[in-house]
Amino acid sequence: MKKILLPVFVMFFMSLSLADSFGWGRTGHDAVAAIAERHLTGKARATVEAILDGKSIVYWSNWMDNVRRTPEYGYTTNWHVSHVDSGFKAVIAEKHGKYNGDCLWGLEKIMPVLEDYKAYDDSTVQVNLKFLIHLIGDMHCPVHVYYEDKQDFNVVLGSRKTSYHALWDSGLINSVHNWSYSEYADMLDRADRKEIARICRGSLVDWVEECARDCRVIYDWAGPDQVIDQDFKNRAVILAERQIEIAGYRLAYILNSLFD
Ligand SMILES: [Zn+2]
Repeated sequence: MKKILLPVFVMFFMSLSLADSFGWGRTGHDAVAAIAERHLTGKARATVEAILDGKSIVYWSNWMDNVRRTPEYGYTTNWHVSHVDSGFKAVIAEKHGKYNGDCLWGLEKIMPVLEDYKAYDDSTVQVNLKFLIHLIGDMHCPVHVYYEDKQDFNVVLGSRKTSYHALWDSGLINSVHNWSYSEYADMLDRADRKEIARICRGSLVDWVEECARDCRVIYDWAGPDQVIDQDFKNRAVILAERQIEIAGYRLAYILNSLFD
């Protein structure tokens, strides 16, 4: 895990547009954490829950979205998205510019603390663990990958307009199955050990780049003012659910690597 963030690419970015940007919504983030929880070793789960005041990783999965507008945690507001260049290479937000980082930039801060967690005080470890639980989910949300040549746009959902970003964030997964987070975990967590091992290979940077390649197709599926019909939802939800499943396995992998 020590080398998981390498290699690092640093670039400047176009302006971020993060208003109303809450990757996956509550159910999706809870489902990611619930899938991860099913794959924790006993020791890792006990250690994680001790750090989290006895609570589950599911309990805290949305916490980072809930505090992003507060003065105390405003510095994390841009950590919820990733950036890639035209070749789908991960780029990490300019470290001293006005954007205050992105997902990989945040994880650059988080991982060293968690890798050496016994050297830090309890509250520092706890907050960094809460960040990690949430950001692995956001990393895998298709609209939380920012491409150089793509901007958000409005689509038509029923009788109203909504941003394409918001559709993927909060409306899509509940528009087909509308399961609870635990039902999503039951239905999506179906990969065997060999497949899970394959999914968990690579670094955090590799995972961002894979998401960028796999999720780019959503911009072929819709454009400005497109009517979002049930056919779209039926197709798109397959990708969304797969990303939730993958994020769950990878979150478990990281937590086991850190705390087992
Ligand atoms: Zn988020």
